[in-house]
Amino acid sequence: MDEELPTSQALTCKLKLLLDKEQVVAVRRTALAYRNALNHASAVAFANGKMSQGMKLQTLVYQDLRERYGLLSQMACNAPRQVAAAYKTLWERAKSNAAHKAKGWTKRRYKGLDKAPKFTALTVNLNHKRDWSLGKNQTVSISTLNGRIRCRYEGWNRHLDWLEHTADRGITLGAAKLWQDPVSKAWYLLVSVDKALVEKPMDRITTVKGVDLNRRNIAVESNTRGKCRFYHGGHQRHLAEHAASTRSALQAKGTRGAKAVLRKLALRERRLNADTAHCVSKAIAEPHAMVGLEWLKDIRNRTERRRSKNASVKRRRANRKVSSWSFADVQAKTAYKTRLSGGVPIWVDADYTSQGCSICGHTGKENRPNNGLLFVCAHCGHTLHADLVAARNISMRTLLIRQDWVRTGRLSAVPEASGDEAKAARLSRYAELRWSLDASSVLIVGRMAH
Ligand SMILES: [Zn+2]
Repeated sequence: MDEELPTSQALTCKLKLLLDKEQVVAVRRTALAYRNALNHASAVAFANGKMSQGMKLQTLVYQDLRERYGLLSQMACNAPRQVAAAYKTLWERAKSNAAHKAKGWTKRRYKGLDKAPKFTALTVNLNHKRDWSLGKNQTVSISTLNGRIRCRYEGWNRHLDWLEHTADRGITLGAAKLWQDPVSKAWYLLVSVDKALVEKPMDRITTVKGVDLNRRNIAVESNTRGKCRFYHGGHQRHLAEHAASTRSALQAKGTRGAKAVLRKLALRERRLNADTAHCVSKAIAEPHAMVGLEWLKDIRNRTERRRSKNASVKRRRANRKVSSWSFADVQAKTAYKTRLSGGVPIWVDADYTSQGCSICGHTGKENRPNNGLLFVCAHCGHTLHADLVAARNISMRTLLIRQDWVRTGRLSAVPEASGDEAKAARLSRYAELRWSLDASSVLIVGRMAH
């Protein structure tokens, strides 16, 4: 499948609202009413066959949401739409659960549709221009049940710059979500924006690199000129390990208080993981780079495959520590940040990336003695950190795809889905690739700053 390159990238700007006391009251009242409305709509949807069509649900609840819950007209449309979308997701999960059960992959019955889902977060979905709009001097205006409020906001410098100069920066504003951080209790506006991307990125590519994601390091990257970087998960791993032991202690306790602490821990861990993914992907996405990532259809398989019964206790413990951060998240963030930096993310076949010798081409499990960190080629003796071998192999595959792109004017951004034969042909082309550099410069990055 040849992919047209996207012309814009969707993303979210997180703005911290600087509200005065009165405004906090207004925003909170609105969010509470909206949450009650969501739960009412959820109950109605449940009673009517667990419906997932937004328009139908809207006709059932609109009047109530306006009169009993006092919602503004746009909000009374958004709430049922949001509830219907939630039901749609639950139905999809129930269907895939049924399919997995039929195949005997699981015995567990999906319980997500047994009762009406409850909405607990304080959020309000807002439409651009009708419910929210940008003002001058870093201000935003938001509709509440107490009337329109205007306040200043804070955010990342890059986002502030975009919002200040939407036209020049190619920014199109979309819907927003008013949201209260459950821990800090601060109010945020999560604004969906579309950012126009550079045209003809092929002409501007200055670097081609490959990225290997794994459990030992969070990521290892190498460009085709031999410059490489290790993004160590040391600090991250330490924190995750600590969290895991605290978690099991609390789970054993099982009291209400313990459960509350567990929820808080889970939130903190999620934030930490998101933060790490942000730092790593930001560093990888240098300007005008073509970034090769591994095509892993079901990324979770990577960790689960090793969760077999005969895996050692040590191995299982290692899996637990890292399963909390997600390859998919780092990949997704790397892809969109690369696009924003004027680059192009692509995906290459993941087969044999850490088993193939990049010097002589010999491929096999024997190149990884004891499944260890070190790659030692059984044929030519080439010895290197295994993750770096993988990153180099990925970078060479990426370079090959770039050459095809330049030659044909067409880019295969993901491996073609045209079957085993085409894949075998690709793998045999990959097997011809050889790494040759006079001097490789190696740069090790330990802790990362924002
Ligand atoms: Zn070799």
